[in-house]
Amino acid sequence: MYKEFQSHLKGIIKEIIEAGLYKNERIIVSPQGAEITLDTGQKVLNFCANNYLGLSNNGQLAEAAKRSLEDHGYGMSSVRFICGTTDLHKKLESKIAEFFGTEDTILYAACFDANGGVFEPLLSEQDAIISDSLNHASIIDGVRLSKAQRYRYNNADMEDLEKQLQLAREQRYRLIVTDGVFSMDGNVAPLDKIVSLAEKYNAMVMVDESHSAGVVGKTGRGVTELYNLKGKVEIITGTLGKAFGGAIGGFTTGKKEIIELLRQRSRPYLFSNSIPPMVAAAGIRMIDMMTETNELQDRLHFNSEYFIKKMTELGFDIKPTRSAICAVMLYDAKLSQQFASRLLEEGIYVIGFYYPVVPKDQARIRVQLSAAHEIAHLDKAVSAFEKIGRELKVIK
Ligand SMILES: *Cc1c(COP(=O)(O)O)cnc(C)c1O
Repeated sequence: MYKEFQSHLKGIIKEIIEAGLYKNERIIVSPQGAEITLDTGQKVLNFCANNYLGLSNNGQLAEAAKRSLEDHGYGMSSVRFICGTTDLHKKLESKIAEFFGTEDTILYAACFDANGGVFEPLLSEQDAIISDSLNHASIIDGVRLSKAQRYRYNNADMEDLEKQLQLAREQRYRLIVTDGVFSMDGNVAPLDKIVSLAEKYNAMVMVDESHSAGVVGKTGRGVTELYNLKGKVEIITGTLGKAFGGAIGGFTTGKKEIIELLRQRSRPYLFSNSIPPMVAAAGIRMIDMMTETNELQDRLHFNSEYFIKKMTELGFDIKPTRSAICAVMLYDAKLSQQFASRLLEEGIYVIGFYYPVVPKDQARIRVQLSAAHEIAHLDKAVSAFEKIGRELKVIK
């Protein structure tokens, strides 16, 4: 059997290569950070990590993790409800709830699991999920696993959302779900308007704060802070794998009864291993750091504004953004690849995105800013963009 299947797979892989969509992985031999070393020996400035607060290689988090290795060991060898719950897991859950101003939190191995396991236990075929067209793949998969009726609205399009809410009027319960920050443009969901529409049409709201937690809002509490909506949305999901230390882990935080039912019924929680105690211990330290100071948020916000201002002055076409994501529009797919590989030669590591990751003829380079970047790093990146931009006739 495998011989036939093998040639079938080889055919698909060939198609991916021919379409220019084959993903190669670059190998890093240093810790994650503003400056990284590749296995080729090249040192590059990293502008494509989700390491928004520069915590991926933070000494305090590593220290907290190390200490917990001594007093709680390495792994749990259990799901939470059998024997996979430590005091550290419980403490992190309550810290996350405190951070977001919610009632309770449930941890998962990843936000992919949080989103995968949130809809099916809560909603049935009598209910409706109204989902933004650009929501993350894990939300799309989670929605597919539930029996609820599905409605989709165009990205951040409030007229369309209203239309879908009218269509969903007959359903028993309605849940609007949106990413907080959309990862390809860096735009923020218009959560103020979403919550107003939810009130008007008697719906609930869920926000995935994966790209916004730690980043958006004066103190990094995400889009609910930006729009002053603390406690106004029923469900928030997020990841420990981006701004929050970058290791692994996800969570759902929100109304008490929702979290309680998820603990009883959410399949990725019930049937998948508990996160290691060291990740919980570092997570606790991370939330404490955020509560003690806004230093990292301030630096990130400064860096983002600085970079975007310089790039705009040079004449680059930047998508409107309120996050640490800066999409430098090039439109042409080939150009985006050429631009990114020239930047790498100049020591700037970024990724060019093109169809089908973004719409056709909307190719771009996505730059992700970090609190770990120093002004000299930003200046070096801007200079490299200027040089290559002129070389490739993107700017004058
Ligand atoms: C990254 C991301 C996820 C997945 O998070 P993991 O913890 O890495 O599984 C989910 N939702 C959104 C919006 C994301 O950006």
